[in-house]
Amino acid sequence: MSRPILATIDLQSLRHNLTVARRHAPNAKTLAVIKANGYGHGLLRAASGLAESDGFAVLLISEGVSLREAGYSQTILLLEGLFESQDLVTASQHHMSVVVHSEPQLLMLEADRGRHQVDVFLKVNTGMNRLGVPVGRFWSFYDRLKACKSVGKITLMTHFATADEPAGVADQFSRFDDLTSEISCARSMANSAAILRYPETHADWVRPGIMLYGATPFDDQSAASLDLKPAMTLASEIIAVQQIAVGGSLGYGHRFTADRPTRVGIVACGYADGYPRHAPNGTPIAVVGRMTRTIGRVSMDMLYADLTDIPEADIGSPVELWGSQVPVDDVARICGTVGYELLCALAPRVPVRVHGQG
Ligand SMILES: *Cc1c(COP(=O)(O)O)cnc(C)c1O
Repeated sequence: MSRPILATIDLQSLRHNLTVARRHAPNAKTLAVIKANGYGHGLLRAASGLAESDGFAVLLISEGVSLREAGYSQTILLLEGLFESQDLVTASQHHMSVVVHSEPQLLMLEADRGRHQVDVFLKVNTGMNRLGVPVGRFWSFYDRLKACKSVGKITLMTHFATADEPAGVADQFSRFDDLTSEISCARSMANSAAILRYPETHADWVRPGIMLYGATPFDDQSAASLDLKPAMTLASEIIAVQQIAVGGSLGYGHRFTADRPTRVGIVACGYADGYPRHAPNGTPIAVVGRMTRTIGRVSMDMLYADLTDIPEADIGSPVELWGSQVPVDDVARICGTVGYELLCALAPRVPVRVHGQG
């Protein structure tokens, strides 16, 4: 028998979550964000579950090419645009749209003098202060793009810093709206958090990411309460069982010491599979469908589950690291991170099975 770890990607859940995004933003088109290998689910696996979306947003031009080669014909947006002038040739050949957020990118388009054509999403920095043209330079960029022969359709875009937090989007939204409401271009603002909480930001294109994978963008609202279904289940099995007496310790650094006779299940999953090494004692985990806790330090290939209250668990018992029993967001929170990071970090060595095809 092979090592029992397995990630299952449920295409039905991806489809369901896309319909949830659409239900929230019924008048907008959806650009499903599948950067970072589809948030760890696999670029083409994510695309197949989200094939009904009006477009895909990716980071790398190679991802866009893979989507075209797989036969997807909808809009493909390169979220950071061109990195070098050769990208313009490739993007144009494959009918990809590109973000323009900087002067060098605009210069690449101008230098092309109409030999190639791409649709452009002009990204405005309304307060995130990461990528985007400053508000004060917006008109100059917009006018130059309009005059540029290599530019087809122009869509106006911004990205929110605090759509998932109490601060909300009001400042950035009004800055963007003041700047762009009189222009007859399509507009795109909303990530998952804004789709779920701020209908005024939906505009023409929404850009859902994390919600499509069935995790929550919020600290204070669970994925289940948002009607989102986990698309990834990370599962494994117990491969050994140990009994520790009171006062006995477990694993590297003896980071767990038993204060009661403790039965320990050794689980075939470690940080080399993408499970966070800094998961503390008490991280939720399910064994034979019952909730328990991890104990001891996560090692490269194994971690420990407390089986003391699950006497029926033994070697070969199924374990869920995250999925429908153990929300990835709950694992992430106790580890001081977000579901995004855990999903993206799924290691290439973990075998993947796809569920719900066709
Ligand atoms: C990643 C990304 C998104 C999706 O964000 P989520 O929080 O995952 O919904 C949307 N827009 C841009 C520009 C992004 O980089």
